[in-house]
Amino acid sequence: MRFLPVFLDVQRGVVLLAGAGDLARAKLRVLASAGAQVRWYTTDGNHDLGGLGADEAARVELAAGDPLTAELSGVVAIVCAGAGDTGAALSSRAQALGLPVNVMDDLEHSTFIFPAIVDRGDVVVAVGTGGTSPVVARRVRERIEALLPARLGELASFVGRWRKAIHDVIPEFGLRRRFWERVVDGPIGALVLSGRADEAESALKNISDASAFTGRLASGDAAGSVTLVGAGPGDPDLLTVKALRALQDADVIFYDELVNPEILDRARRDAGRIPVGRRVGKPGIGQDAINQLLIEAARAGKRAVRLKGGDSFIFGRGGEEVEALRQANVAYSVIPGITAGLGAAAQFEVPLTFRHEALRVTFLTAHKASDAEMVDWSTLTDVAMTIVVYMGMTAAPSVRAGLLAAGRSPQTPVGVFARATRSDAAAAIGTLDELPGLIEKVVGGPAILIIGDVVAHSAPARRQQLTQLASFFQVAAE
Ligand code: SAH
Repeated sequence: MRFLPVFLDVQRGVVLLAGAGDLARAKLRVLASAGAQVRWYTTDGNHDLGGLGADEAARVELAAGDPLTAELSGVVAIVCAGAGDTGAALSSRAQALGLPVNVMDDLEHSTFIFPAIVDRGDVVVAVGTGGTSPVVARRVRERIEALLPARLGELASFVGRWRKAIHDVIPEFGLRRRFWERVVDGPIGALVLSGRADEAESALKNISDASAFTGRLASGDAAGSVTLVGAGPGDPDLLTVKALRALQDADVIFYDELVNPEILDRARRDAGRIPVGRRVGKPGIGQDAINQLLIEAARAGKRAVRLKGGDSFIFGRGGEEVEALRQANVAYSVIPGITAGLGAAAQFEVPLTFRHEALRVTFLTAHKASDAEMVDWSTLTDVAMTIVVYMGMTAAPSVRAGLLAAGRSPQTPVGVFARATRSDAAAAIGTLDELPGLIEKVVGGPAILIIGDVVAHSAPARRQQLTQLASFFQVAAE
């Protein structure tokens, strides 16, 4: 993040605008819509105020002369758009006085930049790209525009009007926040959003007048819960909509080391974050201790999220946690995630099932050589079965030995997919015979092994075939 988003109150003084043409007029419009008093130095003498409302136009002061010698007392910001060489000089003047300045398309001379804006009255979303790409910012804005209800600003003002009154009725912060969440997410919020603010007002008045109301909130409504959330294999965009919502609602998040930090960034800012997983070379706090933490958090009235890589129910010990929560009589729910095997399959285009070629899929784990020895490999010899191995890097030689001894062909295609869906993902493709060597090629985990004929359809395998073909023809040509 290069620029910190803050919101500037432009009604506190005058904004000096220098420039002409469509560029200057675009800035004039956005400043005017924020209620700014604008002093406009046009560089071509044309002070066309077309497109502004009467109120807005009345707040524009048409200035003559050189903006470089303009009087700056009472000025809160300086904007330079379409004003040629004036920008750099105006910027030095502004910076000498500590005034925020924007020179259009000139990051070097700007101390602030204009974001793309979604304007819903009191609710404003600003989208920035650090000045790198206004086009990308506009695309993001379009998506947010589509997402936000038109009357969202009215909802914010509605809450704003009632805040003080509700603060007096519910002094405790946590309860009050939960109350407002219910108002906003529930029928009262829906009334405001559908344009029936009057009905919403009386509904809220009824509730806050009821004497039983605070008692009820303080007892039953304060019960906490635990949500097991699958964080997916790494790419934050692979979170489900439900997972994202749970992260945004959480009071506290207990997460594993495997969870990509970018995913935690999407959680509510003030949620507590507690790492409970194993780190490489260091033991974790243990499953019993984790269960205990989850139970205690819920009993303290918190909405706890247990966040794990992939899916909680695939080698994630989610089953044990659910059992402990059930025994402790704690409310819980489970939100699935995209497991690493599916993430890798999608990214590298390995169809886990394929017409007559692959009719079954087995997910198995072989963490240590001793685990691999416990696997009954004779059940895994069906050539129409794809095998997905979790935690199989160290035990790769034993996986190879077990499958070969059981009779699977040494030529069976194998893929090692490391850090799937992350920015540093890597793949190595070869045969079962070559398996331990493939592990070296991806340089570090976490990695998943996929074993079976379908690996030959994967994107890296197709590339490899192309390269082999090319070198064959090259040899032939020589
Ligand atoms: N619950 C998780 C699995 C946890 S076990 C899930 O559903 O994905 C940890 C193992 O998952 C790792 O040893 C590795 O085999 C695999 N894994 C997790 N994230 C991965 C990723 N981004 N790429 C490849 N393998 C991954």
